[in-house]
Amino acid sequence: STERVLNFGAGPSALPLSVLEEAQKGLVNFNGTGIGIAEISHRSKEFQAFLDDFEKNIRTQLGVPPTHRILFTQGGGTSQFSAVVLNLLARHRLLHPTATAEETVLDYVVTGSWSKKAAEEARRLAAGNATVRTVVDSRVYSKDGKSFDNIPPHAEFTFSDDPALIYYCENETVDGVEFSHDPQSPASFPFHLLKRDALVPLVADYSSSFMCRPIPHLADHAVIYAGAQKNIGPAGLTILIVRQDCIVDVDAAAKLGVTPVPLILSYKTLADSGSLYNTPSVLPIYMAGLVLQRMKEKGGLPYYEETNRRKAQKLYAIIHEGEQKGVFRRKVQQGSESWMNAVFEVLGEGAEKKFLEGAEKEGMKGLKGHRSVCVRVSLYNAVTEEEVDKLIAYMTRFLGES
Ligand code: PMP
Repeated sequence: STERVLNFGAGPSALPLSVLEEAQKGLVNFNGTGIGIAEISHRSKEFQAFLDDFEKNIRTQLGVPPTHRILFTQGGGTSQFSAVVLNLLARHRLLHPTATAEETVLDYVVTGSWSKKAAEEARRLAAGNATVRTVVDSRVYSKDGKSFDNIPPHAEFTFSDDPALIYYCENETVDGVEFSHDPQSPASFPFHLLKRDALVPLVADYSSSFMCRPIPHLADHAVIYAGAQKNIGPAGLTILIVRQDCIVDVDAAAKLGVTPVPLILSYKTLADSGSLYNTPSVLPIYMAGLVLQRMKEKGGLPYYEETNRRKAQKLYAIIHEGEQKGVFRRKVQQGSESWMNAVFEVLGEGAEKKFLEGAEKEGMKGLKGHRSVCVRVSLYNAVTEEEVDKLIAYMTRFLGES
């Protein structure tokens, strides 16, 4: 078929059609250079100008302060599971040259499959050099004692005294659990419990919620990172926002006994070279740059925040209605539901299959949840409110027939 369908996939996911069409042109002739974007040197002045503009666009729209650098790299969110550990262990060693493995603590907040994976990688890398602590594991507070279905209450977050890092995942893409951005909500991140007298080494994985709304307490973060392939572009680009004190001389730290950091994972390498230490992912940067330009034209983050809020509210309302009728069941506890990935079950023998097949017939794809059986609707920026309305109309009909 030559027709595009409605794509509710979790990532890689929908991109705006206007951007794809613009990128088609750039693929043949980038900004009037006569050379396609996948063919042009990353050191050309035209690409450098594009990169500068892209960075500026992120900085302005998110309000990134001058205390923080914006860096671009490859390797996805997964490469940052490793990079944050290595860079921040190096930083910690430079601050505490004689700290023992017991005194070098990495604090992990585990609220879903991705933060769990990040903590596992930390355990691999820190073995013998540092101690990985689970600050809180949300499964303990779940309805069934084993699911990631909630953000635990603030009182359960017990941070270490002087950790090398504090890690959390803002939006758990698989489980559909997200920290609330309403500071009054019990499901918000407990920023008030962090020690503010030092530069807190707070790390956040924003892979599936980057640029969908403003980032609360952005300036209090040491590292924020995101793979591009949800809200802003194709896979192959990872965006980092790194506070200056976390860009450290990893070789000086290695002399004090920490694991040497591969150059390409070192934030200092990226910062010193303006993210051009080696060949960057030119094409994903280009497409993400076009998405950012479009976001700016549409009114920036305030526009997306409002639209995304409405999209999520409407969708959860119909899921709720289906729950009252005994047709759907929400997977995530009230207040911890993600704006970007809504997960629910369709109850009854074969009902989920029927739901997914019916949706597919109407041109709605990507609704199957991650491996385990359930439905997941991803509502990234490129999914329009109209498209969500179409899905809701289908869900309403499905409820009527159930
Ligand atoms: N963190 C989160 C929250 C994710 O959703 C993903 C990917 N789905 C990752 C990390 C891993 O990212 P990547 O596949 O880019 O390595």
